[in-house]
Amino acid sequence: MTKFDPMESLADMQHEFGEHGGVNMSIETSTTFTVMDAETMPEIFHGKRGPDRGCYLYGRHFNPTVYVLGKQLAAIEGAEAGYCSASGMSAIAGTLLQLCATGDHIVSSNTIYGGTFALLNEYLPEKAGLTVSFVDTADLEAIETAFTPKTRALYVETLSNPTLRLADIPALAGIAHRHGVPLVVDNTFCPLMVSPLQLGADIVVHSLTKFINGASDFVAGAVCGSTEFIMSLMDLHNGSLMLLGPTMDPRAAYEIGSRLPHLGLRMAEHSRRAMAFATRLRDLGSPVVYPGLPEHPDHQRFQDLANPEYGFGGIFCLDLGNTERAHRFMEHLQNESRFGFMAVSLGYFDTLMSCSASSTSSELPDDAQRDAGIQPGLVRISIGYTGSLEQRWRQFEEALQVVNGAKAN
Ligand SMILES: *Cc1c(COP(=O)(O)O)cnc(C)c1O
Repeated sequence: MTKFDPMESLADMQHEFGEHGGVNMSIETSTTFTVMDAETMPEIFHGKRGPDRGCYLYGRHFNPTVYVLGKQLAAIEGAEAGYCSASGMSAIAGTLLQLCATGDHIVSSNTIYGGTFALLNEYLPEKAGLTVSFVDTADLEAIETAFTPKTRALYVETLSNPTLRLADIPALAGIAHRHGVPLVVDNTFCPLMVSPLQLGADIVVHSLTKFINGASDFVAGAVCGSTEFIMSLMDLHNGSLMLLGPTMDPRAAYEIGSRLPHLGLRMAEHSRRAMAFATRLRDLGSPVVYPGLPEHPDHQRFQDLANPEYGFGGIFCLDLGNTERAHRFMEHLQNESRFGFMAVSLGYFDTLMSCSASSTSSELPDDAQRDAGIQPGLVRISIGYTGSLEQRWRQFEEALQVVNGAKAN
């Protein structure tokens, strides 16, 4: 059997031409759609006709341009279907609300994106009466025992943020399925690199704001899974995406779709640069975390589970020991070397750096940060591909020398 390749799967899709035979598809900006026969309208309302048959209703329901992007993302993940939303958070919230009712329970990884942690730890318990158990996903026994008869989903991220531990997706899917619930995976850090649905997961959510978009100019999200689940999200009576209304603008869908053809090239170059930096830092004896290094606890698992063409990802972490040193290091890199930017987010063409404990993971209380292994001086670096690798390494090495006091600032 040939192994699944996300970019091959995307290229196998039927090409969407523009209305006038343009090589690019047209942007459908309309918020409402006509029908030729009056009887078609009730059929759309009753779900008998839908976008698969070219029938559209209203912009908050399916939009043709957004629908194509959803299909493209589904192809990349090897899913039956996909649809997009206005942000990664709305894709996550919509998915979990679709799966759960008041009083239900979710088992979640304890090392997740700060916004998702706040959603699961505070918002959903308060507003929807859900209960959530946060567990270290590396501890399969603890995951198993966290399940209750009320559990409706197991929620993890492919690569934990910022500790970069790779979830054992086949094992986690096995546990979830034994309890009759879906495994939901946030694959934002690993587009193309890991294909969770091919490894047993049931639903993949993405923040398209990061690598998939690649230019830090759109906030967007997507859900990929079975046709049944995607249609349920868009149901006119109880679909979370339809009724809560985090609608993606078709102009955004077009823009993001136009970046998918080079996603493979971008991921491979992000990974090549991150691997070079991580290897050199390791050789200097610096405390660097990167799954591409043989010393990383999940290096072997990564090789076993990942698609081979796209490397080990564009993110590595460096522990500067304490917050002050971490801040001085990032300031030098941004303001003196022009190496990159002190900013949250990731997957940009330039390098983005943040100190996780005091920024993107600050929603986690101190003890939860400690449990998750997030050190106060840990700098998360999403490596860009502008300039040359050697130029960027010279800048990086200089900043290291400055914080180490080997060179006057
Ligand atoms: C950014 C991010 C999100 C949230 O996505 P938005 O597009 O900002 O709403 C969720 N999960 C992960 C892993 C992220 O990095």
